[in-house]
Amino acid sequence: MTDSGRGILTIVSGFAGSGKGTVMNKLISEHDNYALSVSATSRTPRPGEEEGKSYFFKTREQFEDMIANDLLLEHAEYVGNYYGTPKDFVFAMMDAGKDVILEIEVQGAMQVKKKYPDTLLIFLTPPNADEIYRRLKGRGAETDEVIARRMKRAYEETDFIKDYDFLVINDNIDDCTARVHDIIQSAHHTVAHESAVINKLIAGLKKY
Ligand code: 5GP
Repeated sequence: MTDSGRGILTIVSGFAGSGKGTVMNKLISEHDNYALSVSATSRTPRPGEEEGKSYFFKTREQFEDMIANDLLLEHAEYVGNYYGTPKDFVFAMMDAGKDVILEIEVQGAMQVKKKYPDTLLIFLTPPNADEIYRRLKGRGAETDEVIARRMKRAYEETDFIKDYDFLVINDNIDDCTARVHDIIQSAHHTVAHESAVINKLIAGLKKY
C-alpha cells in the first residue's frame, strides 16, 4: 500500500527469452503487494500453459470483439498474433492499492505510456545476444523459423529501449527480481505519486 493509497502501474518488457515470466512469478510469490495482469492472446497455448492463468486464449474473431467493445487497455500484434491487456482488472487492483504489473511488449507499452505518463517502464534483457538465442532454443517450444522471427523482432525492439525508465540485466534470477522490486518500491516515493501527501502538507502549512 502506498501513501497515496493507489498502486503503481508498472510495465515490464523484454526480449523473448529474457526470463520475464520467471522473474514475475518470483516477484509475485515473494511479495503480496503485486497483482500481475493476465493478458488475452490469439496465439495457441504452449504445453503447460493454463487458460486464465497464463493467458485468456481467444480466437482472432473473439479478440477483435474485445477491441471493438473497448475492453482492452492496450493491444498489439506480435509475431503474427494479437496480445492485449483487459482493462477492468488493472484499474480495480490499482484502486485496491496493489502494484499492478503488465508484462507486455514494446508497442503496447508505448500505448500505455501515452495514455498514462506516470507508468513505470522497466526493460529486462539477458546479458547478450547469444544468450537470447540460447534461451529461446533451450525452451524447445518453437520451430527454428519462429525462433528466427523472435530474434529479428528482438533486434527491432532495441529501438524502443530509450523510451523506458530502467534497464535491468537478467544474469541471475534472484538479483534481477530483487532489483525489479526495489525499482517499483522506489516509485512510490516519486513526487508525482506523492501528490496527495504534498497537497496535505501545503494545506497544513497555509494555516500558520
Ligand atoms: P509469448 O507469446 O512469448 O507469451 O509473448 C510474446 C510477447 O507478447 C512477449 O513480449 C510478451 O511480453 C508480450 N505480451 C504478452 N501479453 C501482452 C499484452 O497484453 N499486450 C502486449 N502488447 N504484449 C503482450
